[in-house]
Amino acid sequence: AKERGRDGYYFFTEELNTKALKLLHIEQELRHALQMDEFSIVYQPQVCLKTGSISSIEALIRWNHPVRGEVAPDEFIAIAEETGLIVQIGEWVLKNACMQTQMLQQLTGQPIRVAVNLSSRQFSDPNLETIIEEVLVETGIDPTYLELEVTESMLMDDIDKVIQQLNRIKSAGITITIDDFGSGYSSLSYLKRLPVDILKVDREFVRDIPDDLNDMEITSAIIAIAHKLNLKVIAEGVENIDQRDFLVINKCDYAQGYYFSRPLTFEDLYSFFTAGQLK
Ligand code: C2E
Ligand code: CA
Ligand code: CA
Ligand code: CA
Repeated sequence: AKERGRDGYYFFTEELNTKALKLLHIEQELRHALQMDEFSIVYQPQVCLKTGSISSIEALIRWNHPVRGEVAPDEFIAIAEETGLIVQIGEWVLKNACMQTQMLQQLTGQPIRVAVNLSSRQFSDPNLETIIEEVLVETGIDPTYLELEVTESMLMDDIDKVIQQLNRIKSAGITITIDDFGSGYSSLSYLKRLPVDILKVDREFVRDIPDDLNDMEITSAIIAIAHKLNLKVIAEGVENIDQRDFLVINKCDYAQGYYFSRPLTFEDLYSFFTAGQLK
């Protein structure tokens, strides 16, 4: 156990130093990871509940650390945000996800849309639109096959500015999805004004279906509101057939989760597409 100094002073300095040092260390490791190509992307299929076919794939970053092995995004995205490195990492994801999706389209002859997660730092970066344009040109992907996932909190800042930015991005043909919907500060009056296409119901509301009646009410209400506003709805974290059936009955448009498929490597995704339809 640590000794507590007079006034707790030493205790706090030590804590702070340890935290700062750890942050600095991981920041260096992340820079190194970018240079050494230690990141990769896995793709999780999203399924159209009407047809059972794949509507889109979500790009999820993976860090293959030479010593620690696979590091989950929950362990490094927040640090990448804090240090600002997320802007470079996010650009890497955007570019490589578009490149691989374009390749997959050519290999399979099928139209495939890719959903890429944006962090708040990226969203408020003045270069974002230039970066997107460059990636579109460089990879040759048609913008209608690109979807960007943003979270509610990112959209609540300066609402008029956000609306303008989203409109410019959407005018290129890109799809906008609000991720983790219901977990943040969603205000329905904002939602009405925001030019978005899809709401993604947060996993937290899906997890306890069909045991939790409140979660079922909330989920069906989100679906109904979204449809009234002419938006599509996707549910994430769908792990079993009861959840799938509930979503089908309540007219949810799309679903994503282990029930349909875990996130897949590019190679596995390719086999998946050539094998045909999902559940
Ligand atoms: P998210 O955007 O909400 O992504 C969905 C997470 O749920 C993924 O975790 C996915 O593997 C997991 N998942 C999918 N289906 C199921 C299911 O049926 N049950 C359960 N329990 N989990 C499921 P992952 O890949 O570990 O990513 C965690 C978070 O890290 C993401 O949450 C996202 O916020 C962030 N993230 C991942 N990749 C990127 C990226 O490229 N850029 C940014 N900015 N954030 C990313
Ligand atoms: Ca997401
Ligand atoms: Ca999510
Ligand atoms: Ca979530």
